[in-house]
This record gives sequence, C-alpha cells and structure tokens, in this order.
Amino acid sequence: MARRKRRKIIKPKPLSMPKVYQCPRCGAETLSIQFKKIKGESFHKLAIVKCGTCKLYLELTVPQVFTEIDVYGKVIDLANEGRLEEMIGEHTLGSEEE
Ligand SMILES: [Zn+2]
Repeated sequence: MARRKRRKIIKPKPLSMPKVYQCPRCGAETLSIQFKKIKGESFHKLAIVKCGTCKLYLELTVPQVFTEIDVYGKVIDLANEGRLEEMIGEHTLGSEEE
C-alpha cells in the first residue's frame, strides 16, 4: 500500500482591493481617491479625494508614481497634523464641473 501524502495547498483568498477608504474626518468608509492628469505635467498628477458622507473634497498634487494607498497615507498625515481643513479650504474654489 503506497502511502501518498498529498500536500494541500491552501491559497489565500485574494483580498479584493477596497475602492473606498476610511475618512479621517468623519470615520465613514466612503472616502474615494481618483487621479487626474495635469496638463503639461508629466511628473505629477492630481489626486482627488472625496468623502461621500461628510463631503470632504481635497485635491493634492502628487508624484506620478503615487498609488491610492500613498495618497491615502498623505491624507491621514494631514489629518494628524491638523492641516486637513486648511487644505480643503485652499482648494475649494466653487464647483468645478467637467
Ligand atoms: Zn468623511
């Protein structure tokens, strides 16, 4: 009787990347991050951070290589430094529609 040992390979479940993050201002997980190209800029891009709950709206110029996670880290840093509101105020120039 051949003893065959079958190794079970357990694959970790692929964690689906959440599209939304926890908002540092209101705590709800409704923070979305989008990227926009900046005209004439090849090294930077515009990160648009929006919260669907408290209507936080933030625009940050970040390096081209930045990912959503990097931007989120920046937002958290700003919040920790108490500069989040200041950043929001500076960039809210009325409603800009496409
Ligand atoms: Zn919020």
